[in-house]
Amino acid sequence: MKVIVVGAGVVGTMHAWHAVERGHEVVHIEREAEARGASLRNFGQIWVSGRAGGEELDTALRARELWEGIGARVPGLGFRAIGSLTPVRNELELAVAEAAVARPDAAARGYKLLTADEARAVNPALRGAFEAALWCERDAAVEPRLAQLALREALLATGRYTFLPNREVRDVVGENAVRDDRGEVHTGDAVVLCTGAWLSGLVREVAGEIPVRRVRLQMMQTAPLGEPLTTSVADADSFRYYPAYASPALDALNEGQAQDPTAAAHKMQLLMVQRLDGGLTIGDTHEYEHPFAFDTLEDPYEHLTRVVESLLGRPLPKIRRRWAGVYAQCVDTSRVVHRQRVRDGVWLVTGPGGRGMTCSPAIAEKTANELGW
Ligand SMILES: Cc1cc2nc3c(=O)[nH]c(=O)nc-3n(C[C@H](O)[C@H](O)[C@H](O)COP(=O)(O)OP(=O)(O)OC[C@H]3O[C@@H](n4cnc5c(N)ncnc54)[C@H](O)[C@@H]3O)c2cc1C
Repeated sequence: MKVIVVGAGVVGTMHAWHAVERGHEVVHIEREAEARGASLRNFGQIWVSGRAGGEELDTALRARELWEGIGARVPGLGFRAIGSLTPVRNELELAVAEAAVARPDAAARGYKLLTADEARAVNPALRGAFEAALWCERDAAVEPRLAQLALREALLATGRYTFLPNREVRDVVGENAVRDDRGEVHTGDAVVLCTGAWLSGLVREVAGEIPVRRVRLQMMQTAPLGEPLTTSVADADSFRYYPAYASPALDALNEGQAQDPTAAAHKMQLLMVQRLDGGLTIGDTHEYEHPFAFDTLEDPYEHLTRVVESLLGRPLPKIRRRWAGVYAQCVDTSRVVHRQRVRDGVWLVTGPGGRGMTCSPAIAEKTANELGW
């Protein structure tokens, strides 16, 4: 069987991975010389902790297992089972962490409530002031700027994979075929469009308006910290965004403790992970209204710097990079992904939202199973 995959972000690459794993031939078409979208711009968090119970958590846990297995075979993608800590600073925040630990699925996530000293034993870089921390053992990380490249190298080594960069797919032709902007037609037994947040052009032509929206985030990366940050770190603002923390305790936090005005204005939380070079990837903001800003704003960066410095109890190293990224998210955020048969033999898979890096191996596995690969 021959599978045509369009889009070389993590969703497309994982579809290529599962097809090749099952013995099929893959032609992988990408508009750019390399993918430049959300898959490279993210934290690389394999983030289980905040997932909604049920399908979303099951998908994230399955994906976490797949990432670990793939990471063992492709060390270049930098899989690390580092877990995460969310420090809490007062009774209201602590109550949300306690409610999380009391969830029936807490053990599956590896949740544990740690004292501040226990948290510092796990992550000694957290020298700032806090009361306790929510530990999530299942959280992990990969290197987003390297993952697609490393996976592609492994795919090329199988001899059943062809990468065609610098070709934009413009059209779906009949069944199971696409035409690129050089006029070449690529025919397979199945076509999977994994075109990320590009919802106009090809996608609008073949699928019309789909229930998926675009979300823009601001990020930054520092020079090496000079010491290990042994876990990912989130702040208690993350409780306000992730569905796993919905509880009466969260309602009390939302009512009783106003979010910092900058954080509230830009719908922010702190997420932070150390890169293999020692630098810290730090974010994020959420922008939903169009047209998106074309520039990056300083206020959110200043807020994030204050929060990180208060948790680390030291100045942040120099900021080396700032960027923004856009992901596609199902409007009904309880849906893990938008998977739609747009023509006979042609599938569109997009809209995994802020969990696409985490869930992509399991999303692609499900496509492969449903299509009988
Ligand atoms: C700043 C930021 C931080 C994030 N952090 C995390 C995180 O830590 N953990 C997590 O789980 N998720 C995270 N996400 C979400 C995650 O990055 C995305 O859900 C995921 O990368 C989406 O992958 P994708 O392959 O669908 O899209 P993309 O990576 O955007 O790839 C789509 C590709 O399709 C190509 N393409 C589009 N149209 C065509 C065409 N017509 N022909 C040929 N090629 C085409 C594009 O050039 C692009 O390379 C984050 C996202 C952002 C923006």
